[in-house]
Amino acid sequence: MSSPREAAQLAVQSRQPRTFDVPRQPDGHRAPVSSYFGRHVLDLLKLKERLPRESYQALLSTVRHGKPLPREVAESVASVAREWATSHGATHFTHWFQPMTGLTAEKHDGFIDLNVQIPGELRVLERFSGSQLSQGEPDASSFPSGGMRSTFEARGYTAWDPTSPMFLVESANGRTLCIPSVYISYHGQSLDHKTPLLRSLDALSRQAVAFLKLLGDVDVHSVSATLGCEQEYFLVDRDHFALRPDLVLCERTLLGAASPRGQQFEDHYFGSIPPRALAFMEELEFELQRLGVPVKTRHNEVAPMQFEMAPIFEDVNMANDHNVLAMDVARKVALRHHLVCLFHEKPFARLNGSGKHCNWSMVTDRGDNLLEPGHTPHQNLRFLAFLAACLKAVHEHAVALRYSIANANNDLRLGANEAPPAILSVFVGDLMTDIIEKIISGKPGKDPDHFVLEMGVSKLPMLARDNTDRNRTSPFAFTGNKFEYRAVGSSANCAGPVTMLNAAIADVLGKMTARLKAKIDAGEGRDAAVLSLLKEVFSETAPIRFEGNGYSDEWKAEAKKRGLPNTPVAPTAIEAMRDPKQSGFLLELGILSEMELSSRFNVEIERYIKQVTLEASTMVELLTTFVVPAAERQLVASAGAKGALLKKRADAVATGLESVLGAAHKLEALLEELDGVHDESVRAARLAAELRPIMDHARDAADGLEKILDDGLWPMPKYREMLFIR
Ligand code: ADP
Ligand code: MG
Repeated sequence: MSSPREAAQLAVQSRQPRTFDVPRQPDGHRAPVSSYFGRHVLDLLKLKERLPRESYQALLSTVRHGKPLPREVAESVASVAREWATSHGATHFTHWFQPMTGLTAEKHDGFIDLNVQIPGELRVLERFSGSQLSQGEPDASSFPSGGMRSTFEARGYTAWDPTSPMFLVESANGRTLCIPSVYISYHGQSLDHKTPLLRSLDALSRQAVAFLKLLGDVDVHSVSATLGCEQEYFLVDRDHFALRPDLVLCERTLLGAASPRGQQFEDHYFGSIPPRALAFMEELEFELQRLGVPVKTRHNEVAPMQFEMAPIFEDVNMANDHNVLAMDVARKVALRHHLVCLFHEKPFARLNGSGKHCNWSMVTDRGDNLLEPGHTPHQNLRFLAFLAACLKAVHEHAVALRYSIANANNDLRLGANEAPPAILSVFVGDLMTDIIEKIISGKPGKDPDHFVLEMGVSKLPMLARDNTDRNRTSPFAFTGNKFEYRAVGSSANCAGPVTMLNAAIADVLGKMTARLKAKIDAGEGRDAAVLSLLKEVFSETAPIRFEGNGYSDEWKAEAKKRGLPNTPVAPTAIEAMRDPKQSGFLLELGILSEMELSSRFNVEIERYIKQVTLEASTMVELLTTFVVPAAERQLVASAGAKGALLKKRADAVATGLESVLGAAHKLEALLEELDGVHDESVRAARLAAELRPIMDHARDAADGLEKILDDGLWPMPKYREMLFIR
């Protein structure tokens, strides 16, 4: 009789890549993506074909300019949506929203309604009203609100976000119409990730347009942000997954000795994609493309069984909805391939963790990328001004940005030598550094036109092409025509970090506008005024620029000298943000109210506590019921060992067993003690400072045992089994 672990291993080794029903051309070849892309999305084009002209125009001004949607228009959109959805097999609709759980939420409602007009006759028909489209009441008293809603008014409302299109989600036996929505409390406070994101886009647009006006770009009416997120993930076979309670409960391995083969050969990155993984990607991409998600790249990542997908960038709100959707669909599709898709930041210790690089830029309604150097001196000056704003934003709002990526999982990744450090800095590359230094040391006052040329601006257009000198250790890197915010964790909803980025930029743009205006009012010519502002801002932000190795200890010391905050754990990052000096700009810009902000702190601290506590209790159970019994059996087998080496081995098992028992005991005692600590901030801080180090110690002891115990006694799949499936 084989053990469950052996049985799993045999089953895993014999699995074949799964095929699915791909759309085909008449000659049998696979149909091109363009033939089915967006088939499950009710996009503006489909609405235009189906709506009366005036209704479509009204909808368009809501989407483009945020004008309120008239009731009659909502009615006609609803009627079109029902017809389209039911003709594609949908029986239900749902408001689809992003509460502060980190997941998406949905509550399905059938389209059916009873027709009571003819008494006595039983008639059912499909109905969907404008108000059902516009507003839903999930009555979700159990979503996290950080204490904002008291139970007697536990209602939270969802409201349709017409800037992101409706789509159909497929399940085993049907389809559901999903309506992207915000989620707000009875009194209009945000309870989700999307609302602050939309507010931050408003603020960014306002401030950027005002700044552009002063720069001379008077024909820009709005500015938006663009986002393309590179999503990393791991795949694990379901049979292995099922035998690992730590993966099942915490999405990460709490124990597991390193496999002799890890990522040292650097043979996985960009290597040939394992066939089962590739089959999964193909089906995932097919599903996503039907949903209008423009997924484009796929490849192996650094760690074994680690992969990445990236879409073509889009408007931030849409891109974020698409990323959240992509994660959801990936989880479901993986199961069909007998795989589990892990978005956890650190599923396997001592191997690379997963991030979600947020590629971000700003674009005007005329289609100009504001972080893209142009062809005229004016475009280049504008580019430099927005680049300066980004440096200023990261420098001034480093605490807020660090806060926006803080959670228990990302702590395991940040600063762990294969992810960006917990110190925020900006990498701009040699060429940009050179230009910035020249601006700082130059004398722009004399002859602005000449100066612009002299400082090397003619080289700027090369930037977008030449981003070879990329620094992979930087948390925030300029990559030619956009920034890559690399510190974001793979499981995050990017609305958090991107909201913060938009808000930080909006804030500094407001201040830069005032400074520029003062210079111009004082009689400086416009270009000269811009250059002198650039000179100031580039000098002020010099400490945030760092081109070296972000993993090195020297950088930690240097950053300290420069006065840059280094915040390695989430509870500290969250507490630092409670300081009104750090969070004030969010209130001023109308991104979050004081109440919304403090409710978020509560939710985040609570989540940290729940997560670390869950991990610790799971670990205690694993140690006590898996590791200890295995070691005890080994001790029985080694009892009475005579030879010196045999005795040494038995002693090692006994010592390991003692350490494991000791650590488990300490964990339990501390968990119990902390359970009685009612101040959540204190509790979270102590979990980070005291409990997690004991977990590390316990893990080392258990992993040491795994390496010396009889392989047949080890109950859980080992790293070498989980990470090297083909
Ligand atoms: P790399 O792995 O080299 O960083 P990828 O091609 O994997 O690059 O990902 C780069 C991402 O950046 C893509 O999603 C791409 O669409 C996105 N991107 C490119 N230009 C912009 C832009 N102006 N704004 C936002 N994202 C962008
Ligand atoms: Mg990439």
